[in-house]
Amino acid sequence: MKLLRYGSVGVERPGLLDAEGCIRDLGGVITDIDDATLSPAGLARLAALDLAALPLVPPGTRLGPPVAHVRKFIAIGLNYSDHAAESNLPVPDEPVIFMKATSCLQGPDDDVMLPPASTKSDWEVELGVVIGTRASHVAEADALAHVAGYVVVNDLSERAYQMERGGTWDKGKGCDTFGPVGPWLVTSDEVGDAQTLSMWLSVNGERRQTGNTRTMIFNVTHIVSYVSSFMTLMPGDIITTGTPPGVGLGMNPPQYLKPGDTITLGIEKLGTQRQRVFAYSPDQKRPRR
Ligand code: ZN
Repeated sequence: MKLLRYGSVGVERPGLLDAEGCIRDLGGVITDIDDATLSPAGLARLAALDLAALPLVPPGTRLGPPVAHVRKFIAIGLNYSDHAAESNLPVPDEPVIFMKATSCLQGPDDDVMLPPASTKSDWEVELGVVIGTRASHVAEADALAHVAGYVVVNDLSERAYQMERGGTWDKGKGCDTFGPVGPWLVTSDEVGDAQTLSMWLSVNGERRQTGNTRTMIFNVTHIVSYVSSFMTLMPGDIITTGTPPGVGLGMNPPQYLKPGDTITLGIEKLGTQRQRVFAYSPDQKRPRR
């Protein structure tokens, strides 16, 4: 299943993409895409629905982030060896964990706002893992049973805030609009093996990143188990799993986002995103499209 949330910012309704690619409204069935929906029982209930009986949503309707009430937005750093090399940082012995503020979450096609005086804002296409059931100290053999599905994430990053402001990385990772997620959450059964997905990102139509989840240093199984040994993962938590090479920081000379740019990105089976970039405006603190 492809679960999504549609409508205006802050008042999104739950929906589902049918086999024809049309959005069906789930507002008469569930209140939102959150804890209850993401549990195995919740997903089974949706899988049994007769989609043809659900109201159609007009094409072109805005999509919000596909998960509501996200408690934690966790990120893994330097999880592709080529990306570590282009960042001039060693391949880590254990996964690097940092946090993206949940206030940066937004829809897949909402505009991206550069933070004040930003000169080093960068892009990162990533596979996001959505947790379905509470996970604490889980073994690798049990880890995937706690995953509800997968999403595309653009882990936008202000490199000066991230690396030149005394630590931690979180300063450059949680700026407003720096967390586009979606277009939809694709459930695990439909994705199959999450370690064989091709991924790409372009800026103004020029390809910057081309990768595949098979070259991750630490795979999803290890990451879920590993993170759960430090903090309890809750339903709806999102773990974004690192980016392949091709970020602006790694270009020679480095190249960063500027107002007017358009970012497009996608992952096999998970859909695509498109964001326009605009300069900081104190009046524009909410996602816009
Ligand atoms: Zn990242």
